[in-house]
Amino acid sequence: MSFCYLEKLCILFFLNTRKPTFVKIFFGMTTFQDLDLSNQLYNSIEELGFTHPTPIQEQSFSVVRSGKDVVGIAQTGTGKTFAYMLPILRDLKFSKQITPRVLVLVPTRELVLQVVDEIEKLTKYINLRVLGVYGGANINTQKQAVAQGTDIIVATPGRLYDLGLSNVLKLKSIQKLVIDEVDVMLDLGFRFQLLNIFDLLPRARQNIMFSATMTDDVDELINDFFKAPQKISVALSGTPLDNIQQTSYIAPNFYTKANLLAHLLRDRDAFTKVLVFVSNKRRADLLFAALEEIFGSESCVIHSNKTQNYRIRSIRQFDEGKNRILVATDVMARGLDLDEISHVINFDTPYFPENYMHRIGRTGRAEHEGKTILFSTEKEQEAKERIEALMDYKIPVLDFPEEVEITKQLTEEERPKEDQEISKNRTSEEYVPGPAFHEKSEKNSKTNQGGSYKREIARKYKKPKTRGDKNYNMRNKKK
Ligand code: ADP
Ligand code: MG
Repeated sequence: MSFCYLEKLCILFFLNTRKPTFVKIFFGMTTFQDLDLSNQLYNSIEELGFTHPTPIQEQSFSVVRSGKDVVGIAQTGTGKTFAYMLPILRDLKFSKQITPRVLVLVPTRELVLQVVDEIEKLTKYINLRVLGVYGGANINTQKQAVAQGTDIIVATPGRLYDLGLSNVLKLKSIQKLVIDEVDVMLDLGFRFQLLNIFDLLPRARQNIMFSATMTDDVDELINDFFKAPQKISVALSGTPLDNIQQTSYIAPNFYTKANLLAHLLRDRDAFTKVLVFVSNKRRADLLFAALEEIFGSESCVIHSNKTQNYRIRSIRQFDEGKNRILVATDVMARGLDLDEISHVINFDTPYFPENYMHRIGRTGRAEHEGKTILFSTEKEQEAKERIEALMDYKIPVLDFPEEVEITKQLTEEERPKEDQEISKNRTSEEYVPGPAFHEKSEKNSKTNQGGSYKREIARKYKKPKTRGDKNYNMRNKKK
């Protein structure tokens, strides 16, 4: 049984009007049985307990299999890894050759581990080899692993390029290139490295790109290097998830925010697993130090200046529940699939509204209901308004708790007239607004898929009726 688009919208509207908060949406009636999977793939999917492909998975399957270049856009948490991996694995035949045939590029080392893990789950009954390589780990060990031979290699761009230049890793046999989180990749300044890698790859190959947002940078990369890729776009970057309860507080400065956070975190029954986002690594360190004083080993931190081992340990301990609080920057937490986060705290209001979507997407994953709290100063109100405009939703403001101290103590950054070290572009982890950001943000907003799509729907149906598709994706799992 399948519904046409209009019918789906009607169902959506009906459900939304009746029960605005936690709406159950029955979308995508296709099951994994309907996809032309091999028995082995189907069995591993079944063992994972997945019954229905998410919309991006359903739509990508035949397009990726067709061999054409593809760009897939879907919100975080909508199952993009399987969206490209299922069709690739479906057609990848057993081989004894040493050199890899599939290359998956991801922006962070953590994602290398996660994607390798997902591929291993899918290849439980298939005789295929997968290898992950990333910087910050011994390159000689990785060279040895490469020399053993692999079918799929998952890598961060820098390390892949180094291995490609050494004669150990031969890339001329790559048939399929996947660039996952391509928007983040470009934000991190990997464009140049990607171009270098393209030079090492054979010209005749399939290019597959996946991204949560469609930015100008992504568009430019596609226009410059790829042959009219098929575009699959199912998610809206500005669509909040129905099962995430959003609230906000207004606080004048960093240390007052820290007091407020500490106050909230004392409620250990409610705040069981808390991911706290800050705008840059300096603030991450400052906040972590403040939290450590009060909560000791309950908290941990990750940002790009931490060593690889430290980062992996922090994420593991947080995921396993050994640490209750994780302080992170946007880049580090992007794409990570962490279990059952009770709260996402936006300690700083993200300058780019899309980042808010990515942040809150860390909670409310699968069927769980999540909570997110946004802290903002007067200065951050503008950024908050941008977020609200993108979502077409006003985040309720809660009264500042009386018992929390409002301090006048300022951080170095907050003190007036002092030299402020403002990051000049978006290529670093420092998402601090500066002059360059305005230019960039305006540029990006023009191609913001979420906003324009929403406007389109609003025009067509008078009232915006776009809801997060992750809900129905994940809820379908149960059916
Ligand atoms: P994205 O890359 O879009 O952020 P992921 O590929 O990391 O999303 O997937 C998010 C989570 O959803 C993972 O835990 C994954 O195992 C799970 N998942 C993927 N596909 C399905 C599905 N069809 N049904 C239920 N859960 C799924
Ligand atoms: Mg992903």
